[in-house]
Amino acid sequence: MTGGAKVTVAGAGALGLASAMALAQAGCSVSVYDPAPQANASAVAAGMIAPVFEAVLDPEAAPHFRLLLAARDLWPALARDAGVTLERAGAIAVGEEAWLAGVAAALIRLGVHGIDLPRRTAEDLAPGLTNAYATAVLVREDWRLEPGTAMAALRTAAEAAGVSFRTRRALDAGDADWLVVATGADRGLTEVAPELAHLSPIKGHILRLAGAQHGSMSVRGEGTYVAPGDGGVCVGATMEPGVSDPTPDPAQAERLLARGARLFPALAAARPQVFTGIRAATPDGLPLAGLSEAPGVIVAAGARRNGWLLAPLVARVVAACVTGGDPGPYAPRLDPRRFGRGIG
Ligand SMILES: Cc1cc2nc3c(=O)[nH]c(=O)nc-3n(C[C@H](O)[C@H](O)[C@H](O)COP(=O)(O)OP(=O)(O)OC[C@H]3O[C@@H](n4cnc5c(N)ncnc54)[C@H](O)[C@@H]3O)c2cc1C
Repeated sequence: MTGGAKVTVAGAGALGLASAMALAQAGCSVSVYDPAPQANASAVAAGMIAPVFEAVLDPEAAPHFRLLLAARDLWPALARDAGVTLERAGAIAVGEEAWLAGVAAALIRLGVHGIDLPRRTAEDLAPGLTNAYATAVLVREDWRLEPGTAMAALRTAAEAAGVSFRTRRALDAGDADWLVVATGADRGLTEVAPELAHLSPIKGHILRLAGAQHGSMSVRGEGTYVAPGDGGVCVGATMEPGVSDPTPDPAQAERLLARGARLFPALAAARPQVFTGIRAATPDGLPLAGLSEAPGVIVAAGARRNGWLLAPLVARVVAACVTGGDPGPYAPRLDPRRFGRGIG
């Protein structure tokens, strides 16, 4: 089937919005359903578009570096079409000598040029940075966006492209030719898209400090990051596998703040707002993007801790399912049916 198809998208997070946009650009008639379009993982995220430091610091992401990089490279076109601002200043890693040496070695393995920064230069780029460490490493390849602003821009651009939005849950395709299931960590549509059974939740706490300013770069440390966000900074993020209760846990928030204060000592006295989000993860750390075994159903979920980074790549695969266009070289690795049946 070519463009012109009628598509229902369930979910207005990063994956649903990017997919709706790609489908509308391909000429489809798209309706997006979401009962709570602002209360999701996409809205609380830090918005790092960070193929390099994700591959360096997250063992599950390391094998997928090229795929993550390819996803990032699709962002400039989407950002242009949707009016999303991409912050391309780069990101810094700072920490104990042995840890930073590990980061440098991992960069070499990836073939990425990390720039060694003397402490003073790092402090200039990230005002308030601790002086506890002698050096830092800068990479230019990692970018960032503002999730709240990006979601609003994507929605506005999608509406301009003809997409309609409904503030209610989707149960099936309705009168559409296709249903795109982009429901994040919510497995409520598993009967419609059996592949959702392979998703498991990973809760994340993130702290936000309005008004705090530490420059325009994300700063990565051991077990934490401090990134610009919403006119202040955010400190993230915990990884709590198997936890789907979104209630904030003061103990987790306190530990996170203490880790952030190792990077920016002034954070120790801060009184941040605490947010949580539930990520959806698959057994291999890659999203489910493509045709379900159920006829007429496409899955776009399971982006773990990189949903913003991966959104345009997932959207490309989703649109190709409907239009028969080129899904790109990574589509087979994202096939929702790759885990077979029967895992709950
Ligand atoms: C603390 C934290 C920090 C993060 N930082 C980053 C980062 O820096 N960079 C990055 O790339 N990623 C980051 N992530 C990961 C990223 O947020 C997620 O991978 C991404 O948001 C997932 O997007 P999604 O669209 O799949 O799901 P969601 O954003 O969760 O959206 C799913 C939507 O589906 C809706 N829904 C559910 N069921 C139905 C239904 N039946 N019908 C209609 N709608 C339905 C929900 O209401 C929800 O709005 C972070 C995550 C967390 C928790």
